[in-house]
Amino acid sequence: MSGVVYLVGAGPGAPDLLTLRAARVLARADVVFHDALVHPEVVALAQRAQIFAVGKRCGAHSTAQRFIHKRLIDAARKHAVVVRLKGGDPLLFGRAQEELDALREAGIACEIVPGVSAAFAASAALGISLTERGLARSVAFATPRASAAHASSDWAAGALAADTAALYMASEHAAEIARTLIARGKSPETPVVVVENASLASQREHAATLAELAAEPPLLTGGPALLLIGPPYRRVLAARASATRRRAQASSK
Ligand code: SAH
Repeated sequence: MSGVVYLVGAGPGAPDLLTLRAARVLARADVVFHDALVHPEVVALAQRAQIFAVGKRCGAHSTAQRFIHKRLIDAARKHAVVVRLKGGDPLLFGRAQEELDALREAGIACEIVPGVSAAFAASAALGISLTERGLARSVAFATPRASAAHASSDWAAGALAADTAALYMASEHAAEIARTLIARGKSPETPVVVVENASLASQREHAATLAELAAEPPLLTGGPALLLIGPPYRRVLAARASATRRRAQASSK
């Protein structure tokens, strides 16, 4: 008899954005394997568990994926409740399918606890709908980062086809991404917001047009960041313009 592996979404950062179900599973956990981005207060809810950090501050060197599979399988053969804790929602850009497939192949039962994905936390922080009526009827979740197995996927086609795009794992290459989207036909005036550390006290927003982003990417602090692109973000550009006007008026007095 082996235990159950729970693939749990830890939410975007702020610990109180964890679901109640996730908190309950963590309280019962015997072993927890968590990603680097998960908030320590969330991990601390697993009071009786052995805790292991298994990598992956995106881009940084990581524990090999296959080794993670082996550790999950070994843990499930010894313990009743094993938790694999991933940032945001576990099924969005988290290599969850590979882990689920490996566990199922080993005959281990899995359950998934969804979480609040970064794009939702960023939208909440901005107070801007991903699907503002009259402006956006479709949203693409996309990442320009390709795995070797899927190098041919055309992320840009997805981002171009939707009214609003949320681009994950993209901020390091923001300028190049903006140039690609413009070259592929997106208007250079399309508003973009780069949201860093969404839901945390350290959250920052950088508003720009695609053309501005292509010319000068924002200075980021190195926290997780995503790009929100599309007509709803014209509001952030308008706020930026009026702040600039106010500063100009104040300094001319
Ligand atoms: N499963 C996660 C995404 C994992 S990929 C989710 O649903 O949110 C990791 C990427 O998510 C980062 O490169 C960044 O683009 C984004 N991300 C994660 N946390 C974030 C945060 N608090 N603020 C902004 N972007 C974040």
